[in-house]
Amino acid sequence: MKAIVVGSGPGGAIVARELALKGFEVRLLEAGQPFAPLTRKISWLKPLRGSWLIKNENSIKRVFPHYKTIRASDDLVIFTGVTEGGSTSISCGNMVRAERGLKEIGLDLSSEFEEIERTLTIRPTPREKWRPLTQRMYDEAEKLGHSPKPTPKVGNYEKCVGCGYCELGCSTRAKWDSRQIYKDLVDKGVTIQTGSKVQKIVVEDGHTKGVIVSHGSSLERIDADVIILSAGGVGTAQILKASGLPARDNLWVDVVLTVGGVSKNSKMLNEPPMVWFVKKENYILSPYFDLLSYWFHKPWKDVSAEDRVGMMIKLADTEFGTVNADGTVAKSLTDIDRNRLEEAKTEAKQIMEKSGVSGPFVDGMVHGGHLGGTVPLTREDVGTMHPSWLPQNLWVADLSLMPRSQGLPTMLTAAALSLRVAKCIVEKTS
Ligand SMILES: Cc1cc2nc3c(=O)[nH]c(=O)nc-3n(C[C@H](O)[C@H](O)[C@H](O)COP(=O)(O)OP(=O)(O)OC[C@H]3O[C@@H](n4cnc5c(N)ncnc54)[C@H](O)[C@@H]3O)c2cc1C
Repeated sequence: MKAIVVGSGPGGAIVARELALKGFEVRLLEAGQPFAPLTRKISWLKPLRGSWLIKNENSIKRVFPHYKTIRASDDLVIFTGVTEGGSTSISCGNMVRAERGLKEIGLDLSSEFEEIERTLTIRPTPREKWRPLTQRMYDEAEKLGHSPKPTPKVGNYEKCVGCGYCELGCSTRAKWDSRQIYKDLVDKGVTIQTGSKVQKIVVEDGHTKGVIVSHGSSLERIDADVIILSAGGVGTAQILKASGLPARDNLWVDVVLTVGGVSKNSKMLNEPPMVWFVKKENYILSPYFDLLSYWFHKPWKDVSAEDRVGMMIKLADTEFGTVNADGTVAKSLTDIDRNRLEEAKTEAKQIMEKSGVSGPFVDGMVHGGHLGGTVPLTREDVGTMHPSWLPQNLWVADLSLMPRSQGLPTMLTAAALSLRVAKCIVEKTS
């Protein structure tokens, strides 16, 4: 049986692995190129910070082609990894179960979470590797009654040198990414083709026959018995719409806003990002040197990397955004989102001030990078994990299936959803 999997993030990686192990011939089509970290080259760019060459989010791609930025509205930018490994290649390595909204649709992913967690090393960064200010902020957050917790990280953190550049790739390979899920099966059941962007799905008589793929300027049709879209919350919806199939205007992105303060010589960049977090109902707070704001956001320009301190707010935003067939996105913050961000900003500032961080406190770039919700599962679909409005042999296995925003790290959830989908595909086709 031939399967095409579109996208090599956690969703695509898990479904490719599971199907290959069950005897499927899997062709993994990835729009991006093989991943290479930027870490070693970043110091060359320092003199250009704040110049016209590096002035806003559009400059990111010039420096680091694995990032894709999409302006969703005046107040929101979307980031995603277009490369082998998808957004896991540029992640912070945080690994937690994010389950908001699953109970409502009757989906219990506990066994999939356990199955995936068993294969990985997940543990927090030891406190002695945190910067002194980060330790102080943890203690102050605790005194303020926020119950902070060390963040579980996935990978081999003995190799971590604390460069702080996780989101530009890990040069010591301490950090896990989804390429590791299928690497032992490459050319043994899984064939990966990078630089292969799926333009649309070929549907004939209500059945999915194959996909049209572009490699640079040339187009190719590839046929298969089963097609699985794992192109992420935006990529999957774009392919569906370009193929004349529906996707829901339910995009969520987990809005990130980092409040920047100042503490002389705190050197927050010399530790892994987000080593602890506070979990509130609608957001988390976590110490974070926001690289994107440091490099590309004008209001952050006047403070050096040595002195800049950040407290991230990651908000479970209102699920209300549209992806178009050309890949553009329309989404802005709602009044509810803004009010929750204001509440979180007050807490973030309070923790920093109590820890001796001074102002001016400046908002970072408002962005989102956990993309989901565009093919939301309903209670009726949970048994089959197949959205009823899709053709029979077309499946979705990524975060698009998650109906609600999380305000939490999401790669484990994308993988768990996909594992359940893979089991259902095997059951359906055997
Ligand atoms: C900067 C950043 C840091 C993050 N840090 C963390 C973290 O620390 N912990 C955590 O849990 N989560 C983190 N996330 C979120 C997490 O990485 C994502 O939620 C997760 O990877 C989503 O998995 P996915 O399989 O749905 O999609 P993705 O990982 O986005 O994978 C989709 C893949 O499909 C490919 N693709 C898209 N369109 C096409 C097409 N037309 N044809 C072929 N291929 C296509 C893309 O190139 C990509 O490789 C982070 C995200 C970002 C942006």
